[in-house]
Amino acid sequence: MSQDGEISYAVDEKDWHRSLAYAVRDIDVLFDRLDLPDHLRAAAHRAATLFPLMVTESFLRRMTPGDPHDPLLRQVLPLDAEFGDVDGFTIDAVGDEAARRAPGLLHKYEGRALLITTGSCAVHCRYCFRRHYPYGEEPRRLDEWDAALDVLADDESISEVILSGGDPLMLTDARLEQLIERIAAIPHVRRLRVHSRLPIVLPDRITDCLIDLLTRHDSLTPIMVVHANHPAEVVNDCAAALQQLVANGITTLNQAVLLRGVNDNPDVLTSLSERLVDLGVIPYYLHQLDRVHGTAHFEVADERAVALIDTLRSRLPGYAVPRLVREVPGELSKSPVL
Ligand SMILES: *Cc1c(COP(=O)(O)O)cnc(C)c1O
Ligand code: SF4
Repeated sequence: MSQDGEISYAVDEKDWHRSLAYAVRDIDVLFDRLDLPDHLRAAAHRAATLFPLMVTESFLRRMTPGDPHDPLLRQVLPLDAEFGDVDGFTIDAVGDEAARRAPGLLHKYEGRALLITTGSCAVHCRYCFRRHYPYGEEPRRLDEWDAALDVLADDESISEVILSGGDPLMLTDARLEQLIERIAAIPHVRRLRVHSRLPIVLPDRITDCLIDLLTRHDSLTPIMVVHANHPAEVVNDCAAALQQLVANGITTLNQAVLLRGVNDNPDVLTSLSERLVDLGVIPYYLHQLDRVHGTAHFEVADERAVALIDTLRSRLPGYAVPRLVREVPGELSKSPVL
């Protein structure tokens, strides 16, 4: 944590902070840039009051102009459907509240504890299970992490710490370094897992400095879990960022969410797995949607989800078939969908 270190990070970080500043947050800019039909515009403005629009330039460049059904656009486009009250779709669908052991610390599964490091993301995914999460109650300054870090240090059953959010890579390198150094100082924590969508939506975020932060401790094995849902996401600058992670020895896994109108198609899912594997990224999970208020229009029925996975299994090597799971409150792991 030397002064010198922080100065060199600041130089390296300029690009991704600039990319983030240029992210599109205005419905009219989105509609004009992508030449979208006007009849969706008023609804988009309305639904953006529930959860604001946010999409990076890099992600936007991977969309097809003029196509309101573009699978990348569907993930970020606010729709009137988000206002629907649907039975079973609630505010805390995954039981996070019950798993909170300290401010910012969720502990649901044996051996793994998860830190909610920030509420920020570089894109706002309309289906997000955390769109209603009370982030305002979580720690912001480093000293506010003391309670969570004390729990980690005192509980020798925890061998893996997961940085989550929001998106943990929204933290500056200086903040990440402070957190990682404190985690690395806990002897029984042997793995550091980062759950981030930034390698997909803001590939500039993958810098040499970040990789150094993640890989510098021999006693703390880094694992990156990214989140891409469609093969058209995994191209160009995003593909390069994933390759950079892999080339630096970071085990990189992908989790996708099964989303109606985005990737509920055997050819799309096959192609997603193939692209990931070709880049050295292992398809880890395919999540059934968490039943969060405002997301029901993305849901795919279990029978169809299982049929899709069966098709993948008949087409792909075993390691390229993600596990189809859902999060069931109170269960001791993600639950397989059968
Ligand atoms: C999903 C999740 C994990 C990680 O589960 P894995 O099956 O190990 O990927 C850990 N903690 C919490 C709170 C989670 O929601
Ligand atoms: S937490 Fe993940 S899924 Fe949710 S809005 Fe952020 S990037 Fe998207």
